[in-house]
Amino acid sequence: MTDARCVLHWIKSSKPLSVFVANRVSEIRTCGEFLSFRHVPGECNPADVASRGGLVADLQESWWHGPDWLRTTSDQWPDEDLTLSADESDLASKEEQAPTLHTASLVTGGSDRATDQPSPHTIPSGLGSVLTRTSSLRKVLKITALCMKFLKKLRPNSPRLSQISNSYDIVSQDIQAARDWWTRMVQREAFPDIFKAIKTNAKHSSVANLGVVIDDNGILRCAGRLSNAELPTDQKLPKLLPTYHAFTKHVISEVHGRLLHAGVRHTLAQTRQEFWIIRGRAIVRRILDQCSVCRRHEGRPFKLPSMPPWPKERITRALPFTYVGLDYLGPLLIRTGTEKGKVWIKLVTCLTTRAVHLDIVSGLSAAAFLNSMRRFAARRGKPKSIVCNNAPQFKLVRSVLDDHLKLILANPDLL
Ligand SMILES: [Zn+2]
Repeated sequence: MTDARCVLHWIKSSKPLSVFVANRVSEIRTCGEFLSFRHVPGECNPADVASRGGLVADLQESWWHGPDWLRTTSDQWPDEDLTLSADESDLASKEEQAPTLHTASLVTGGSDRATDQPSPHTIPSGLGSVLTRTSSLRKVLKITALCMKFLKKLRPNSPRLSQISNSYDIVSQDIQAARDWWTRMVQREAFPDIFKAIKTNAKHSSVANLGVVIDDNGILRCAGRLSNAELPTDQKLPKLLPTYHAFTKHVISEVHGRLLHAGVRHTLAQTRQEFWIIRGRAIVRRILDQCSVCRRHEGRPFKLPSMPPWPKERITRALPFTYVGLDYLGPLLIRTGTEKGKVWIKLVTCLTTRAVHLDIVSGLSAAAFLNSMRRFAARRGKPKSIVCNNAPQFKLVRSVLDDHLKLILANPDLL
């Protein structure tokens, strides 16, 4: 029995349910022939006493014995109409539908700046997502060319796809067609006012300043003073591109990579062989600043932290091995006759003169260390201070010395 009318509705429902609910309902239904589901009113549900609050007496009564009618025959149990009310039906249907989310990527793929004006000529969302999801212009153009080749299969006589080749593979002609298509779409998205001004012969500052014209492919080109030069068309009449656009970024990144990560001026000059980007120098500088390869090569090394002053022992004039540092080196494998063994080298360095004293130690025991130090003191003199790390053998020596010291202090006669 349950007081959840939604759950009863799910169990009895024949509508498609969400995956989570459907899996559990199907599991419940496998036991259906042995189970019958009935509704218990909320006020009679003992489980609700704990969660909704109530008197201890109510809890003890209903928790242990359940509602009174449960002790009668089942034909006297409450038989409520399980038809859902309008609100409950909405709730049930919402809960059924909630997990079945249909995700769709609607990336406009165009401008990456909120200040760009929206345009009725936007790039189709499917291909637009290619721009933002792909980091390489080459890959974008190959995907686009592939799509265009597929469309040409469907519409072989379409004049818009006349640039696409009939070959099975993607050839340079297809890549150029894709490049032109992207340029045209980006321009229509970014410069609707220029298209409108040219068609209506209206005055427009960009048209006048940049000498913008439309070529046979519907692409905006900037007519400079090189129109009579013996140069390729793209150099004489570079295609106009907006400053902030994913396609512009791809073009600059591609040129920058092709030039082996050249600087701003070189990249901009090469970009202008084909495109005229509005405020080009600024956007090229910005994109090059974000180039991880250039950052890695041009980045300065990390600055060293300010070092603390030298310790007094290092800069005080003293006899060699007055102030020493201590460490162990090893173990080294040795052979004594037919037996193999391990030895360590105790390295004592003078903090003042940097002189080094080496001694072979037979083990990591405190006795071996103390014997070695006796040999050292006999040869070099007794040091005033010893600096060492927290190696276990040094800690062991310290505890042994402490024990001896306590023993001596407790029994002065030992001296
Ligand atoms: Zn770079």
